[in-house]
Amino acid sequence: MTFNPSPFEKYNFKNQQIYIKRDDLLHIDFSGNKARKFHWFLNQEFTNIKRVISFGSNQSNAMYSLSVMAQLRGWEFIYFCDHIPHFLKENPIGNYKYALQNGMQILESKNRKDDAYLYTSKNDLIIEEGGRQKEAEFGVKILAEELIKDIQNEGITNPYIYLPSGTGTTALYLQKHLPFRVFTCSCVGSDEYLKEQWKMVEDDESIFPIILSSPKKYHYGKLDKELYALWSELKSDMGITFDLMYDPVGWKKFLLHVKQINGTPIFIHQGGVKGNESMLERYKRKYGII
Ligand SMILES: *Cc1c(COP(=O)(O)O)cnc(C)c1O
Repeated sequence: MTFNPSPFEKYNFKNQQIYIKRDDLLHIDFSGNKARKFHWFLNQEFTNIKRVISFGSNQSNAMYSLSVMAQLRGWEFIYFCDHIPHFLKENPIGNYKYALQNGMQILESKNRKDDAYLYTSKNDLIIEEGGRQKEAEFGVKILAEELIKDIQNEGITNPYIYLPSGTGTTALYLQKHLPFRVFTCSCVGSDEYLKEQWKMVEDDESIFPIILSSPKKYHYGKLDKELYALWSELKSDMGITFDLMYDPVGWKKFLLHVKQINGTPIFIHQGGVKGNESMLERYKRKYGII
């Protein structure tokens, strides 16, 4: 399976010129960067594999993308998560709902990682939470190659890349395969935690991306009116729907630093918009925002 290169577009936001790599448009059934991270698994010949096993949160973009992959490859998909709220079971929504429709079997467990590994036998493929593993390099390298071509075609002389991180795997492998700087920020846990995650897959610290931080700490998945307002502004100004888990935090931290960085920014839109359904529902319930 191959993907056509995703579009590369020029925008203006708050008087800042910015190019956006539309990996959200890479494939209708995958969240952009998960398609990159799982590309290797989509192409590999697996003669004995019958099931894929993974673990993580109950609304994860990776979970949904794995359900698509399992369906494409005719595998069973078993997923371990901590806890599924009663409300969600009764009213399936977002990634949880669509992954179930694709045949995911979900199991609740207090030690999701340990239990997933205990459950795994030799004809199973196990995927780390959020796809944080070396195999992700294959697809992210293809993204890097597309970016090099996009930048040449547009004649951008002093580019830099920016993208918000979860596990940081996408940012790390982009930096490994690009001849210019990659900036990122942490959206899950602290900046130190992001570095710890890089160390789990890569020894060479010289290729670690640069982390943009903020005085304010954001908690992953927490509702925040300011973030929602920024997300809406991005949507109305540029006509682009961003993801609600990573992108508003990503843009907030970017806007704090952009004036101090020399060069032309390129933002990677990593998809995840399918997951907005459940976030929007939560915003609606909490604040009455639609
Ligand atoms: C998974 C995901 C990320 C984080 O990717 P990492 O490689 O784990 O850093 C960022 N944005 C979106 C929309 C995602 O789905």
